[in-house]
Amino acid sequence: MELSVFSWIVIFGLLALIVNSIGIFIVYKNKELAEKANTYFMCFAAGLLITVPLVLVFPEAVEKNSAAGSAALVGFLFMFLSNRIIQHKTRQKTLAFGITAVEGIAIHSFIDGLIYTVTFSSSIFTGFLAGMGLVVHEFAEGVITFSVLIEGGFKSRRAFWFAFLMSGLTTPLGALIAYPIISKLNPAVLGLSLGFVVGVLIYLSASHLLPEARGHEKKHSILAFIAGIVLALFIIMTEKA
Ligand SMILES: [Zn+2]
Repeated sequence: MELSVFSWIVIFGLLALIVNSIGIFIVYKNKELAEKANTYFMCFAAGLLITVPLVLVFPEAVEKNSAAGSAALVGFLFMFLSNRIIQHKTRQKTLAFGITAVEGIAIHSFIDGLIYTVTFSSSIFTGFLAGMGLVVHEFAEGVITFSVLIEGGFKSRRAFWFAFLMSGLTTPLGALIAYPIISKLNPAVLGLSLGFVVGVLIYLSASHLLPEARGHEKKHSILAFIAGIVLALFIIMTEKA
């Protein structure tokens, strides 16, 4: 049975929401366990999210539009600059800290949703692989959002629901809002959007997930990173063979 592109986007949007909620729930119940698991999830996601854009999505983007490289640069700089603004605004560690940081996460999660739509619109295989990496990193996002809110002075029940709204629901929302626009793009413009997504994903992996994971170095964190790379390469090779 062939599923439509739209059904795939809905499935992955919901998966993202579920994994994000699991992250929030586990950190809510058992902070220690969540933080232990989190490093591995982040490293594994980083491995997937560096391999998939470089090996699979980027060549696809360039095939559709030779200017996709510039779009990737724009995507990377967009992430860099928006992170700078969030960092600048979150310097003060008060209640505002929790809220502004979570606003940043909400925008980020919304863009995550957009990535599902862009990659699935290119091909179901591309969407599936990029989506796999994103779904794994949703766990970390749930854990981080909840922790940031607690640090910002939220009570745990409120933090739980606020994290669910801001980092969980925003992802399927981003995917659904992007769909009517992305599905009408011609291949050349879709190529540019894919290029942009490549830049965003490379930033996410190299500058967001990996340094966080390295911050609390665990025994097998490098193995988790390599496992992510190997799994992505394996799936890409089998598809191309
Ligand atoms: Zn994300």
